[in-house]
Amino acid sequence: MSEIIHHPQGAIAADQLSPCWSCKGPVDRRALFCHTCSVIQPPQALDHFSRLGLAPRFDLTSEEIERNYFRFQRIVHPDRFASKSAREKVLSQAQAVAFNDAYETLRHPVARALHLLELLGAPLPKGEHTVKDPMLLMAALQDREALDEAKTAEAVEAIIGKGQLAYDKTLAALSDHFARDELKAAQAAVLRLRYMEKLLEEARIRRARFV
Ligand SMILES: [Zn+2]
Repeated sequence: MSEIIHHPQGAIAADQLSPCWSCKGPVDRRALFCHTCSVIQPPQALDHFSRLGLAPRFDLTSEEIERNYFRFQRIVHPDRFASKSAREKVLSQAQAVAFNDAYETLRHPVARALHLLELLGAPLPKGEHTVKDPMLLMAALQDREALDEAKTAEAVEAIIGKGQLAYDKTLAALSDHFARDELKAAQAAVLRLRYMEKLLEEARIRRARFV
């Protein structure tokens, strides 16, 4: 338990310490509780991977992410702070919100990839006009046309099946790009995945109309 709470990473560098709000003793930025007086600490500015005690990498299973998330949520659960001061209750809630944010970001592959790209210094440029990939634009036109022309549930189903296959393939490619540190290619794959998600969503809405 203490391993999770204190995130021991070897020697704690001085710049990773901040004073405890209650006793002013030094606390590791990643610690949930003060090492001296044991009161809960406010959430610090951490990336979502560090927040959940995970290595910053793309290849994480949903089980790994979930396991750590629930472990931390249990530690800051309101029941554990029922007899504590108002300030401690507020801080435990703030910690719970921070763990939720981290979980919601990391559990979704596209959001996880975007966050990882930011951490690696290669954030995706903001805005909708970043799709400069001519192949992607061409495919987008064809897919949209096919979806417009699909007049039966089966036809839409076929588009969804094809789209899901392409999505899974691109996800595997994205994983390879991260493993090889090919960040430009990873950016392009993320854009494709985002586009594919939109198309799949539209196709599912369209399929629902046939039911
Ligand atoms: Zn303290």
